[in-house]
Amino acid sequence: MPGFELFGDAERKEVNDVLESGVLMRYGFDGARNGHWKAKELEQELQNTLGVNHAQLTSSGTTALNVALAVLGVGAGDEVIMPTFTFVASFESILAAGATPILVDIDDTLTLDPKAVEAAITSKTKVVMPVHMCGAMADLDALKAICDKHNLILLEDACQAIGGSYKGKKLGTIGDAGCFSFDYVKTITCGEGGAVVTNDATLALHADHYTDHGHDHVGNDRGAESHPFLGYNFRISELNAAVGLAQVRRLEDFVATQRKNKKVLKDALATIPEVSFRRLPDEDGDSAGFLSFFMPTKELTDKVVAAFKEHGVDAYWNYYENDWHYVRKWNHLKDKVSLYPLSEQIVNGMQDLNNADFSQSDDFISRNISCLIKLSWTDSEVQERAANMVTAIKSVL
Ligand SMILES: *Cc1c(COP(=O)(O)O)cnc(C)c1O
Repeated sequence: MPGFELFGDAERKEVNDVLESGVLMRYGFDGARNGHWKAKELEQELQNTLGVNHAQLTSSGTTALNVALAVLGVGAGDEVIMPTFTFVASFESILAAGATPILVDIDDTLTLDPKAVEAAITSKTKVVMPVHMCGAMADLDALKAICDKHNLILLEDACQAIGGSYKGKKLGTIGDAGCFSFDYVKTITCGEGGAVVTNDATLALHADHYTDHGHDHVGNDRGAESHPFLGYNFRISELNAAVGLAQVRRLEDFVATQRKNKKVLKDALATIPEVSFRRLPDEDGDSAGFLSFFMPTKELTDKVVAAFKEHGVDAYWNYYENDWHYVRKWNHLKDKVSLYPLSEQIVNGMQDLNNADFSQSDDFISRNISCLIKLSWTDSEVQERAANMVTAIKSVL
């Protein structure tokens, strides 16, 4: 997945443009910036690449989610349905909005189980937030049908899945809004950065203002802009945007390399009858940032993890044992450990996560191994890795 593996001359050139003018700010200073508007260019490039009308850059993927929820009008008392398997940013952004995260089971797609979503809907539900984990898509037709039926907002967290698509449309552009992360380990990186994309002009205009203190960006005098509503500072810097601009132009190549490397590993593992793969609602749209597979039992999965270590296979996760990405170890969320008082709506509205039944998620996550697909592997390294993985798995069967 990581674009940082291929940081090079193209990235340096874009950054140098910014360093030479010294204008590190994305707005204003028109005379001093030698015509360089890296953030604006990156937004345009994202719109073209993704086939979406509007892209608003932010300081991170997490703040992209904050902005999306804000412009979608999500706040106190609203419930947002999210999966048990995701990065902690999902519930962080919901809590930051003052809204209530409602966690529901995943299925063999490794993201929201549509049946679990439907069962969790209440009169307070406002948003369904699928997370396209590990580079591939949620079951978007099913989720969209539920949103349409219940008049809910569909917000895609596509932070790990840029370059992926579903039935011909890019991930992140199918819901009412979508979010991307360009942190250091994502498919393309800005160092730190993110984006909200949407086809809705009003949401886009509000995102433009909201990310910059509510300034309406009318006129050239920064001190004289008015504030139609409250905002915040979620801006990206020109330096970060410059890196991303070089990276987004390489996205197609990155995804092609990931797909080539992944195919070698997947074909090799497919020869083992005990291995099954994550269900991909649209296999052709997989960005191929990861290879995710299941073993028949947790015991066998644990043995494969041990065998991978013995056989020198690295860069994989068994998320059941991971603190960052799975509800099992989110003790700070379960116990609502906050530095400041949370609202009563959140405290009383959240599930009792210490006693919630996520046995369906436990089953899938405890039997899952997800392998990172790197861009820098040579063909022979991929072949060798495939052989080592097969040997390791067969050694425990
Ligand atoms: C990385 C990530 C985020 C947050 O992105 P940052 O840029 O690190 O803030 C949100 N959701 C998912 C699924 C992610 O993987």
